[in-house]
Amino acid sequence: MMHAPLTLKFLGTGGSFGVPMLACPCAVCASADPRDKRLRTSALITVNDRHLLIDASPDLRAQGIDHGVNRVDAVLFTHDHADHVGGIDDLRAYNLRQHGKLSCYGDARTLAAIRSRFDYIFSSEPALGSRPQLDLCELDGPFTLWKQEITPLQVMHGDQPITGYRLGGLAYITDASSLPDKTIDAVRGVNVLVLNALRHEPHPLHMSLEEAIEMARRIGAKRTYLIHLGHELEHEGTSRVLPEGIELAYDGLTIEA
Ligand SMILES: [Zn+2]
Ligand SMILES: [Zn+2]
Ligand SMILES: [Zn+2]
Repeated sequence: MMHAPLTLKFLGTGGSFGVPMLACPCAVCASADPRDKRLRTSALITVNDRHLLIDASPDLRAQGIDHGVNRVDAVLFTHDHADHVGGIDDLRAYNLRQHGKLSCYGDARTLAAIRSRFDYIFSSEPALGSRPQLDLCELDGPFTLWKQEITPLQVMHGDQPITGYRLGGLAYITDASSLPDKTIDAVRGVNVLVLNALRHEPHPLHMSLEEAIEMARRIGAKRTYLIHLGHELEHEGTSRVLPEGIELAYDGLTIEA
């Protein structure tokens, strides 16, 4: 099947603390390598001249400025954790610039959490200041935006089911601790797999580096990029020991799928 050319820019590749982590004296947090500076995990997918933001990280404003993100056409949310929704208020800037509401996709739990945690956004009381104007769209199977089919993927984050996305030859999965077989089947052999890996030691909510490598091998993408990286994983040294076809992503890296 032919796919429209699609690019993905990694706006952030860090775990929930980001790297450097506040107040951490470790060597990776002190690293001078720019690839060891990781804002919270988020990405911008461009397809058919439209820009889809994955998650609204607490670093959204800095990410948009650093990478010249002057337009966002829709937001795809993976789940409701603070490191994935904390930047929602900054979406106001795109409403003002684009003179319209922004469609935000997510599962029922994510949208309910957004409505309750950011209740002021959805208040019918008049406000003197600006509020984001969001059109919350609940996921219900594959859908099409600007001629691009988008398939939500169920991903397990501990015992919470969350959402990954497949667009053509690209699969984007963050915050997974495991994947159901049907999701593995749905992404097998993609060109590009984006997958999370937190650190070497196991974690109840996230795959370790070793678990992510094992999962990447099962899926068998041509190329796999690892995201949501903690401060245990120094870029240079970790990259040297990764198998062929699997690499650590870094903030600002742009790939084609
Ligand atoms: Zn996260
Ligand atoms: Zn550290
Ligand atoms: Zn999470």
